[in-house]
Amino acid sequence: MKDVVAIDGPSASGKSTTARMVARELGYLHLDTGAMYRAVTVACLRQNLPPQPSPQLDLLLDELDIQFDREGSGDQRVLLAGEDVSGQIRSPEVNAVVSSYSALPQVRKRLVKLQQQAAEGNNVVCEGRDIGTRVFPDARHKFFIVADLKVRAERRRDELEAAGTAADLEELMAELARRDKADTIREHSPLVKAEDAIELDTSNLTIEMQVERVIAHVKGRSA
Ligand code: C5P
Repeated sequence: MKDVVAIDGPSASGKSTTARMVARELGYLHLDTGAMYRAVTVACLRQNLPPQPSPQLDLLLDELDIQFDREGSGDQRVLLAGEDVSGQIRSPEVNAVVSSYSALPQVRKRLVKLQQQAAEGNNVVCEGRDIGTRVFPDARHKFFIVADLKVRAERRRDELEAAGTAADLEELMAELARRDKADTIREHSPLVKAEDAIELDTSNLTIEMQVERVIAHVKGRSA
């Protein structure tokens, strides 16, 4: 099996940025599984499908076509049936309901399979909520990234402001806390630290420090 670096943790903990930079530095493929749950959510909202089991949902999942466009040096784009939905998957509407769709076992089953297929034959840095516990339980390197709720909300606010969107800190904190709770208490593959994962609290770390620590562990254990 190729090398797998699994990075799990709550929303806005710095997982994505860390995973992207670690993947770049190691020359590994970066797999953002949250983007896949978000893309399924966009597809369901477009068809007015509620977050509950249905034959229509099964059909949507059977025909699901999610691709990552890895061309260029910028952020990778997410394509749903060929259409760039990178902006839409991060919208407040999707933030509000993605946890309800990702709690459905049929959604998880389909996406876990796609994630395992995407990693086949590749060295990957894969980030999400259940990577070390469910998607790649045998990953050689597992990290669980956490940070204070307020720090996470501040980071999210700064990102939004950099993109020209004003955001209220209290609202962001409430939204992140609500999503973390939904992801943690769900029945199927809840957000939980794998027993053999290294926990990294990034509340007081810069992004460079986070990346450095992950890489140090990976290189240390690979040597
Ligand atoms: O990582 P991100 O915040 O983009 O993930 C969006 C949502 O997708 C999470 O709140 C969670 O409900 C779901 N998710 C999941 N399992 C993963 C990745 C994301 O359930 N492996």
